Amino acid sequence: MTRRSHAESLLPGKDDIDRCRRCDLGARATQGVCGEGNRHAPLMLVGEQPGDQEDRQGRPFVGPSGVLLRRLMAEAGIDDDGFYLTNAVKHFSFVVRGTRRIHKTPTQREVAACHDWLDAEIAAVRPRVIVALGATALRALAGKSITIAAAQASAPRHASGIPIVATFHPSALLRAPDEDAKARMRGAVVGALRRARKLASG
Ligand code: SF4
Repeated sequence: MTRRSHAESLLPGKDDIDRCRRCDLGARATQGVCGEGNRHAPLMLVGEQPGDQEDRQGRPFVGPSGVLLRRLMAEAGIDDDGFYLTNAVKHFSFVVRGTRRIHKTPTQREVAACHDWLDAEIAAVRPRVIVALGATALRALAGKSITIAAAQASAPRHASGIPIVATFHPSALLRAPDEDAKARMRGAVVGALRRARKLASG
């Protein structure tokens, strides 16, 4: 039995997201990348957008950032079955350099165009807490531009009233300039994930 007692909203379908052309990203990417995980989980994690591997495989967080995120979640005591994982933007935004496709931060317009898909996922999963991984996810969830530090002090909420816990995207750890910075960020992410887990189970 789930914790729901009334009619459930449906998660957006993969075909619908594949076909979406509300912004230009849909026509360039290989496919749309829906969220996945426990659709009854009390905890939802939202990243920025699919990366190169995610775009090829059609699954969120399967590249290096995803591997790191799963390690950090395990460290924070979050079960494999305890979360739903998605992105603010469902198609890969990139620039081509030689033979490589390099991540490009989605524009505000692209994030806004994708907003209905994210809200549909939130309505379907109805988590108790949402973790925003990085500034783009935070802006999409909070509906305004806000820094991660400011969000940690002000405890913003999604329009539905669900509290948002903000922290770094795991890719920021992979790009950290040195080991000290990486260790500090790692501690901050694990701390935020622990807080979110406790809030979600309260
Ligand atoms: S990124 Fe979002 S809004 Fe843009 S085409 Fe893809 S699904 Fe549609």
